[in-house]
This record gives sequence, structure tokens and C-alpha cells, in this order.
Amino acid sequence: MRKRFMQFAAAALAAAALLPQLPAARAARPPDYDTVLVGLAYGSSAMPGANLLNSVGSGYRLGYLDGNRDFISLGYTGETGISVVKTQNVSYGGPLSNGLNGYSDQIASGIVVGCYHLQIPGTWATFEEARTAAANLPGGFPAWIDGAYQVRVGAYPDGGSAQAAQASLALSGTSIVGTSSYGVSVVKTGTNTVLFQFDGGEGRALTVMPGLDGTEKPETWFNKFKYYGGFQFQRVGGGSLTVASVVDLEDYVNCVLSREMSEGWPLEALKAQAVTARTYCATNYGRHRDSKIDICGTTHCQVYSGCGLTGPGTAQAAAGTAGQYIWYGDALAETFFFSCDGGATESSGNVWTNDLPYLVGKADPYEGAVADKTGKYNWTVTFTAQELTSRLNSKGYANAGIVDMYVSETTPTGNVKTLTLVDAAGKRFSFSKERARTFLGLDSIRYTVSGGSQSAPAPSGSYVVAGGGSLSSLSGAYAVGADGTAAPVAGVPYVITAQGTEPLATPSAPAAPPGSAGASGKGVFTITGSGYGHNVGMSQWGAYAMAEAGYSYDQILTFYYTGIDVK
Ligand SMILES: [Zn+2]
Repeated sequence: MRKRFMQFAAAALAAAALLPQLPAARAARPPDYDTVLVGLAYGSSAMPGANLLNSVGSGYRLGYLDGNRDFISLGYTGETGISVVKTQNVSYGGPLSNGLNGYSDQIASGIVVGCYHLQIPGTWATFEEARTAAANLPGGFPAWIDGAYQVRVGAYPDGGSAQAAQASLALSGTSIVGTSSYGVSVVKTGTNTVLFQFDGGEGRALTVMPGLDGTEKPETWFNKFKYYGGFQFQRVGGGSLTVASVVDLEDYVNCVLSREMSEGWPLEALKAQAVTARTYCATNYGRHRDSKIDICGTTHCQVYSGCGLTGPGTAQAAAGTAGQYIWYGDALAETFFFSCDGGATESSGNVWTNDLPYLVGKADPYEGAVADKTGKYNWTVTFTAQELTSRLNSKGYANAGIVDMYVSETTPTGNVKTLTLVDAAGKRFSFSKERARTFLGLDSIRYTVSGGSQSAPAPSGSYVVAGGGSLSSLSGAYAVGADGTAAPVAGVPYVITAQGTEPLATPSAPAAPPGSAGASGKGVFTITGSGYGHNVGMSQWGAYAMAEAGYSYDQILTFYYTGIDVK
């Protein structure tokens, strides 16, 4: 668990000081450590108690991570099902909000782990000595409190109960100790039997490393998922438990990969995703410093739900690209990816706010080869005028009844940049960039609208090319016939419409004015599109197709991320 890249850290801090406008959360370097703390429960989801259950391997080592993230072992337990609870009164029951039984702050009848204990005078030199001494006392357990081994007895809900126990157990020389801000107890799940107590103050958090039996790669259940590595339990600000997966970076990459793609995908596609996931981790690293975790396991940073879906392919992809990142110049790239581009990716500035030099939209000649596998290559959705009217009203756009909808702006790769709706009073409502997709809940920004007044806009004075892009002139253009032969376009070309054919008199002939009564005869708008996702960066199905076509992972990455280096 060595610390890495300290020289980069110093350089990045210096750069951050000079460039205060850069968001501090975005790191431009690989993570500081090869052990990553991925938040599984934090902030408002911090837990009073957390259950662990061995899946592969048995037992647990108990300790903490030092400043270099090396695990310092303080003790162990051979129990296979343990729970870590904060040192306040908690009780076992359920099901809790996660559907499982566990420990909560709701003190009902039943099994209460109280926060009052009897403390035996003195300290012990080792865990074994404390454990042996504790074993001679009913309800005794070893504890590590601020650097010293102690022996404590019982888990009583109040001082009176502790006093009564003190008398009945004839432990008159003991003191009664109560709750603490940073302490945690390890108990046998479903009981109030304390196995170990830990209080390292604010600076040290209990870390549990599964596997006492020499298992090479233990797997452990936590909250419905299995995880590699260990778990850290930190009472941030003296509150409930912030639970972090303590996982080797490459195991983390393997786990993320197994859910972002699937075991069984072509190896080069998996490797491309592995580098992307590793880089994405690095660029999100540090967003949750307040919670004392590196990144979270949700879409906010990157989805991480343990190792249950990993396999030989995902493991090989992670290991085969270990330590590799996507760089643009001397900084890590922001490696956005999505499911399926439907024919062309899009520049980041046409979807979000900023253009980035490596997130440039381009036609995708590969993805179509696996169109039948994607399930999202072609899609159609219809909206009635009434549905659109209601949707605008429900989102706060008061309108006089929608009568028209059309694509009012497209990008050079043929994706939609602005979708415009018009009401009966002629008022226009335009939704641009990402909202051209999300406002109507569409699968992508690659679509056309029929039923409205303008179904295929193009840059003024140009011709739209099927499949994406446009031409300013037909000079030198070829048309592909039904038999696959190409011939130069000559004379006055005809276009095919729903009613038949008609001469193409002028490029992009102005359509009926938006809002005109005849814009939508039936009041039904059909959106025909392709692709799934935001279209910025790497298409995962495109990576699949490129891998099947024989491209390597770095060729896949350099296709979808313009001008980057993989190293
Ligand atoms: Zn996050």
C-alpha cells in the first residue's frame, strides 16, 4: 500500500494555487495511494451499525490504516459474521431501510448493545494478553483505547445497569466507562456480545481486513454486495459510521469494469474500459474529503458495487492495463463514456458547458456492426401535442398548448443541439445541449422529429447527408443506389418523401413557419433516434465493435478520445 506520486501531488497543489478557477475536486494525476477508500455509506447514509459476513475466507483482522495506508493489525476474531457499531446505544432488529436486519439507533425491545462498560484497571502489552484476561470474565472483551490494550466487561444501556452488574459480578475495583465520540465496537452479528472495542480518536478509524485463514483473495458481504479487500469504519465528526471499501486500485478497476461492461465482452474492449475506469477514478479522487473517503461508489463518482460480477476477463483487463491512464498532455483526461452513440459521438461543449480538446464529436464507422446487440441502436418514441403541453406545464413552462416541435439546431456530426417546441400563441420553448435529450427523457441526442414543421434542419444552404453531416454543395457528391452501386449526383436530384418523390429545388428550403396551424396535422410527433447516453467520449458498444474488428484497447481509446496518450 505504498504512497505514490508525491512529486505529482506537490506539483498539482502548486498549480491549484495558481489557478483558483479550476475546480479543486478534479485531480490531474493518478491517486496518491494504490489502496483506494471508496465510500459505501457516508454523509446522510452513514450507519449506526454495519454487518460483515465472510463469503470467501473466514475471520477478520482488526486494526487501522497508517499514514501510508499500510494496515496496522491490532487484533482479530474468528467469527464469520460480525458487525461494527458506534459506541452509543444501538439495538439489533429489522428489516432496516436496506431490507436487512441490522443495528439501528431505534432502541426498541430486543438486543441492545449498550455503551456503558466496566473497565478493569491497568493495561495489557499485547492483544493476546488482553484477550486471555478478558476470557476469564463473563462478558469480557479486549479493547484498544488511544494506543493501549484494555479489558472491559459488558455492554449496558445506562450507568445504573452498569453499577448493578458491577455489584453482581463482584468487580468492585472496576470503573464505569460510557460512550465516546470516535469509538466503535465489533460485535457478533445479531447479538450484544462485544468481540473488540476500538477508539483511536478522530485520526484513526477501525479497519477490518477479512480472512484469517490464508485465503489469497477474501470476499465479504456488506449490504447485499460482495467486496474484495477490507472495510474502514470512521465516525466523521463523531457521528454514525462512514463505511468505506478499502480496496486495491486494480481490484477496484476490475469491479467497476464488471458492471460498466460485462464479463464475456471482448478483452480489448474490457481493457479500454479498464483504463477509462482507472482514469475516471483519478479525476474524481478527492471529491469527498469531508467524508474522509477518496471517491464514492455511486454515479456521482463512479458506480462500484463490489466483486460479484467479476470474472477472468475483467480481471485480465484490469491486470493487463495496470497503472495505465489516459493523458492529454501532462494532465489526466476526463474520460466520459456512455453506452451507444448510434453513429456519431459529440463534442463536450455541444452537450455540457466546456469544449475539451479530446472530447470531440466524430462519426463512428464501427459501432453499427454490432447494432443488433446494443438494443438501443434504433428507437422511436411518440408524443401527442397534449402530452407535450402537459410536460411543459408540469416543469413550469406555462404555455398556450403545444402545436409544433422540431429540431432547430444540429451539430456538425448530425446530433441534435436544440429542440424547439412552439405553442398556439407562437411562443417558442427551446431546449439545448443535454436538455435536448433529457427534457423529453430521450435515449440520446441523435434523432429526428417528424410531425412538426421542420424535420431535418441543416446549416443554411447545405444538404443533409443520411447518417450524419452535411454538404454545402452537391458537386462531387455520390448517391448510393439500392443495388449498392455509387453514381455521381447529376441534374436536379429528387428527394423521397412520405408522399413519393419531388425535385430538390433549393437546399434546405424554408419550411412552414413554426406554430402554423397545419404544422402537425394529427398533433402527434414521432421522434426517431439511435444510440443511448450522452454521446461524449467513448461508446462502450463502439469499443465492443472495434475490439471485434481487431483493434487494440489503445487504438479504441485514441479513436474515441482525440489526441490522448495511454500510458
Ligand atoms: Zn462521489
